[in-house]
Amino acid sequence: MRGLTGAASACAFPLAPAAPPRHSRAMQTPLLKPAIHRWLAVSSLLLMAWPHSAPGQTAVLKQVAESLEPAKPKAQDKPEDARARIIQWDQEARDTLAGMEAGHMPVPLHLLGRGGDKPFPCGCGRDWGCVEAYTTLSGLPYLLAETLLKYPDHELTKSTATPKEKALSLRNRAQKGDPLAVEIFDFQARVMGLHVANLAMALDPGIFIIGGGLMDHEVTTPDFRDRYLRIVRETARPYLWAQQRDTLKIIPAALGELSQAIGAALVALYQSRG
Ligand SMILES: [Zn+2]
Repeated sequence: MRGLTGAASACAFPLAPAAPPRHSRAMQTPLLKPAIHRWLAVSSLLLMAWPHSAPGQTAVLKQVAESLEPAKPKAQDKPEDARARIIQWDQEARDTLAGMEAGHMPVPLHLLGRGGDKPFPCGCGRDWGCVEAYTTLSGLPYLLAETLLKYPDHELTKSTATPKEKALSLRNRAQKGDPLAVEIFDFQARVMGLHVANLAMALDPGIFIIGGGLMDHEVTTPDFRDRYLRIVRETARPYLWAQQRDTLKIIPAALGELSQAIGAALVALYQSRG
């Protein structure tokens, strides 16, 4: 969950029922089984934790959860009951719930002109420069502080706002053409592009769905989203195999904040139906 939340996140699973054969093969590999278990659990927890989220999203999650016995909500369930039951089920399956913590894979900092001697800290405690710290809101204050050194006359240099408030202002600033903010999100897009290529080496998924706050249709402009996705694609491309360059799709999420959970829950549903 942690690895796929924040300003932007990538989900390497298909959303549509009529998934191409390559997706089906990938889902059946042992490597992805923990991911499916984990996402099923996460999706069920989301159903419990966010009962008032968008009705359409909640309906999809509820339908999926009710069709899968281990995650099936019980009438008497409280959120903590469901969580405990799912964790117990997962432990019985000898799953650590750690599958696809891709946000905590390291960024190849040397490709971004950084030595990596002092990577941004991450909430998970790792010190190798987690992707999450370089692509989401969590690391944005550090990236802003670094980038501001190049913009000494910028309004945010003198601002008395908190680091988080300053970071939260960047998305709007970028959409108004603020060079500092644009540079920051261009950098984040490059990191995401490298991450996509990295995951493509391991999973060969055929499609990446980019979600999160930078792809939110309600608060971002088409130009902003197109620029981010273009840089993601351009950065990933040189690191893909030749066949992947012709076929890999990198597209924006269309289902809002719960896109990843809905997609993962549907993967689990299709898997359970063989
Ligand atoms: Zn981390």
